[in-house]
Amino acid sequence: MKPFIDPEEIWGFINNAKPSKERVREIISKSLDKQRLTMEETALLVQASDPGLVEEIKEGAKILKEKVYGQRIVLFAPLYIGNLCINKCAYCGFKSTNKAIQRITLTSDELVAQVKALEDAGQKRLILVYGEHPTYDAKFIAETVRIVYSVHSGPGEIRRVNINAAPMDIDGFRIIKDSKIGTYQVFQETYHEETYARVHLGGIKRNFEWRLTALDRAQEAGIDDVGIGALFGLYDWRFEVLGLVRHTNHFEAVYNVGPHTISFPRIQYASQLDIDKSHIVNDAEFTRLVAILRLAVPYTGLILTAREPSSIRDEILQFGVSQIDGGTNIEMGGYSKKEHAGAQDIDMEQFQINDNRSLNEIMEELIQHDYIPSFCTSCYRRGRTGEHFMEFSVPGFIKKFCQPNALLTLAEYLEDYAPETTRVMGYNLIKKKLDEMDEDSFKKSLTEKLDLVREGKRDLYF
Ligand code: SAM
Ligand code: SF4
Repeated sequence: MKPFIDPEEIWGFINNAKPSKERVREIISKSLDKQRLTMEETALLVQASDPGLVEEIKEGAKILKEKVYGQRIVLFAPLYIGNLCINKCAYCGFKSTNKAIQRITLTSDELVAQVKALEDAGQKRLILVYGEHPTYDAKFIAETVRIVYSVHSGPGEIRRVNINAAPMDIDGFRIIKDSKIGTYQVFQETYHEETYARVHLGGIKRNFEWRLTALDRAQEAGIDDVGIGALFGLYDWRFEVLGLVRHTNHFEAVYNVGPHTISFPRIQYASQLDIDKSHIVNDAEFTRLVAILRLAVPYTGLILTAREPSSIRDEILQFGVSQIDGGTNIEMGGYSKKEHAGAQDIDMEQFQINDNRSLNEIMEELIQHDYIPSFCTSCYRRGRTGEHFMEFSVPGFIKKFCQPNALLTLAEYLEDYAPETTRVMGYNLIKKKLDEMDEDSFKKSLTEKLDLVREGKRDLYF
């Protein structure tokens, strides 16, 4: 395959960009017209550093979110399956040279205990995370996915399992696809090959191209629901934003559909963290780059994680982030250990997280800010793939599917898991959203379904 990342081309776009106020405004309105931005236009946004223009870019992202995405935020939780790793990624606590870390792979019973604890908290969507190691081959990953789907604690069930694991070959991706995963995520970490070589010091992950082409192999194996990402802080953030846009263009050109999601983790403190700090991204740059990504790829899902403190999350949610994790515990086996709630042991974990709130606390906060917390898995289960594109391009899609499904899954949570205060807040929000709807047969059907949820029926969706 012809390499689709050309550093000279990317730097050419950045260095030649001369952002005038008029041009930046034109670009923002193109995005508000629901058109994806070119590399050249994105470069103009990353080069627009005038505080007034930065504000306009952030305002643009907020308007786009309000115009298109509505108020629901999908919640998920990460579950670490094993931290054995043969690679030497300078930024990661799991690197093979880190002898301080305790190496654990969950047994089937331990996995079941973790999933039960997650279900008992109300989770419905998980992302399973693995180090890169011969133990975690495609068959192992597929088996862990099957175990997760098979666990039912009380009314609980996991309805969508996503994966964040090392790249596979095509046969490996086929095996994983058969276990009925949702999204397969592989983050490129940095799109700058020289930097990539500097921070990946050993193991299979040293191979830049094997990683860059991972999700093409996934597509060939029939996994068309893929997530890309860059680890911000390794290299110049402007380059990485253009790298992500280039990767997205590549998918569109070759497969006719962009990636399902983009993630933008920012480097956090980790056991034996060993990186050059010159590219660390500060809060102002970080919020700015997320707003630019929103405008550049207006129809791709954006994922924000508990790596970020709640203040940053609050700002970025306004730019149309579609998914966040809630109730996150990245300690191996941490979800079933009540005594560890809140405290982090950095030698047990990949990196430090900054948002230790429980799922219920996050739900309450979302509800207070008029967001609808959602556990919806409807598109995936109805075979509506490419839903982010549909949300964006099919008029009324959010109103007809996403918002009602968010309300139905919220009602399930309120019935099965919420303390009384959250229950009251949640039902007030549901009432408010129903009051805002037109009186038609659709509202009638949603109201009937909500009544059925109160009566004990589960898993109702449009
Ligand atoms: N081992 C697989 C891999 O490297 O692709 C999959 C899981 S890895 C545990 C998941 C992601 O965590 C990595 O892709 C990287 O972006 C992120 N990560 C690693 N170290 C980090 C750190 N110190 N701070 C924030 N994110 C980090
Ligand atoms: Fe291993 Fe992934 Fe951590 Fe690298 S980022 S050391 S591959 S777990």
